[in-house]
Amino acid sequence: MSATRRLILIGGGHAHVEVLRSAAQRRFDGELVLVSPDVQQLYSGMMPAQLRGAVTERALSIDLAALCRAAGAQFVAGTVHQIAVTNTHAHVRADHASIDGDWCSVDIGAVSPGHDLPGVREYAYATRPLRAWHALLKRATELLTSRSDGKPLPCCIVGGGAAGCELAFALLTRAHTLDRPLSPTILSAAPRLLPEFSTRMSNRTVALFATRGVRVETSATATRVTSREVQLSDGRSIASEFTLWLTGAAAPPLFRASQCATDAEGFLSVDATLRAVNGDALWGAGDCVSHLASPWVTRSGVYAVRSGAVLAHNLRCVTGNTLGHIRTFTPQRHTMFILDTADGRALLRWRGVLSHSRWALQLKGAIDRRFVARYNDASHSAHRHR
Ligand SMILES: Cc1cc2nc3c(=O)[nH]c(=O)nc-3n(C[C@H](O)[C@H](O)[C@H](O)COP(=O)(O)OP(=O)(O)OC[C@H]3O[C@@H](n4cnc5c(N)ncnc54)[C@H](O)[C@@H]3O)c2cc1C
Repeated sequence: MSATRRLILIGGGHAHVEVLRSAAQRRFDGELVLVSPDVQQLYSGMMPAQLRGAVTERALSIDLAALCRAAGAQFVAGTVHQIAVTNTHAHVRADHASIDGDWCSVDIGAVSPGHDLPGVREYAYATRPLRAWHALLKRATELLTSRSDGKPLPCCIVGGGAAGCELAFALLTRAHTLDRPLSPTILSAAPRLLPEFSTRMSNRTVALFATRGVRVETSATATRVTSREVQLSDGRSIASEFTLWLTGAAAPPLFRASQCATDAEGFLSVDATLRAVNGDALWGAGDCVSHLASPWVTRSGVYAVRSGAVLAHNLRCVTGNTLGHIRTFTPQRHTMFILDTADGRALLRWRGVLSHSRWALQLKGAIDRRFVARYNDASHSAHRHR
């Protein structure tokens, strides 16, 4: 591809779908290209519901190719391995394409810390990339529906954050529905589960796991996975024939490989306008960036979603040469959090309030469905109007 006025979006994460939706409503100046390994972007907030069998994959899929068509953008299938950006030019090298442009924006999410520890790639199941999620679902279904000798299936969820806890609850419910006993352990490297949340929320979650027969091991660091167990740094091992690897967020290797401006951990450092701090023609949002101006921002979908509108606006400004109207992203310090406990209820935390209720799950369902519909509807309505 030759260099014309072109904005290259890398990754179809939460903020970039908003950029595309904005372009579907009103076209950007110049060309728009999205590079993504996946045609369907799965909304991870609904993965636990899919695992427990409550929704089909369609419910959590955003059709990136259709959204690109609606936005007048070109969809390029592939993973980006390197970017070279100056303050006026961007060159992107993907699996099967080399693309030149004037600006570049990244929303590629994070990777799981420790995925290169011995046995993790071979024996543990993760949520990303997409093929990993499909493999996790397939293996869960195989194990839970295969003929059993009546003995509980030992399984281990490595990671005591929100994703680990939600998927543990979902797995228990799926096993219960299929009448397959499990012997689950959840491991947290931190001294308690859900270390990013209050002690109250953490204790409540531990109590729920206790009533459902889940062993919780805290300050427990996994160092190796085999087909039969998870080995810990203190020399112990936990029996596991199905290991989930949900260890949080580490920086994707792309930025260091591309010599971008990163923080100490390798996340792209962006300023309050979501532009790379060194002034390159590079923007970013979501889990892959580090917000210099608001270091309290955690890596969660909420912030990725919230930054989407600011990113869309700012990219429209720079591609249309209206730099004077750039906005800043001011992330909230307090966000609502809802954890699906897969028992018809969810744990909701909002400031000092903690509620484990049916209505919390209904609220989560409504928020999740609305998010996915927002982007699929944008594709459909643009199609109808042509
Ligand atoms: C099971 C589970 C449940 C969760 N529930 C919640 C929740 O309820 N609330 C919440 O706030 N957060 C939740 N999270 C966290 C949330 O999923 C992430 O914070 C969020 O997905 C980050 O969004 P993102 O836009 O940064 O990137 P992502 O959603 O990760 O999307 C990144 C995209 O970029 C693509 N990509 C990656 N690398 C490249 C590359 N090199 N080139 C091109 N494309 C690339 C990927 O294929 C992907 O499509 C959950 C996570 C999990 C695993």
